[in-house]
Amino acid sequence: MSVPALRQPKRSKKTTPPKKSITCRKPEKEYVILTLKDDKKLVVTSDGYHGIIKMESMYLCVLCETEIDLDDKCKAEHKNLESHLKTFEKFPHLEGFVENLVRQLNKNSCYCTICNVMVSTNFLMRHVEGEAHKQELERAGIRASVYKPK
Ligand SMILES: [Zn+2]
Ligand SMILES: [Zn+2]
Repeated sequence: MSVPALRQPKRSKKTTPPKKSITCRKPEKEYVILTLKDDKKLVVTSDGYHGIIKMESMYLCVLCETEIDLDDKCKAEHKNLESHLKTFEKFPHLEGFVENLVRQLNKNSCYCTICNVMVSTNFLMRHVEGEAHKQELERAGIRASVYKPK
């Protein structure tokens, strides 16, 4: 008496594992690790760090006040431009805001690196004390504990 061999489950219904089949057309979000003065680490998006905001039909570098084509390559190129990096240095994060990472763009407007948004100077306090900003800041802190640079 032979026991029938266990039937091999047929693979018909199993779809290919989703993880690798999506060889991403969109590159993963790039992040930047920032170490603050008190050694606290925050991980923010590279766009956020560089002051590049996604608009409806373009990217905008709020530091250079330059429009960039809605194209990841153009965006990456902009981040490496010497002129951008020079401008970038002119807008350090304000010390008074510590971990909130705010850049003063001009008299009337600031830029929040954490949230990747422009904020009018008049509303800056309200912004950094607001719930949305606090959540973003928390996320940036959590990301820092799990993020591993490639
Ligand atoms: Zn720029
Ligand atoms: Zn913010």
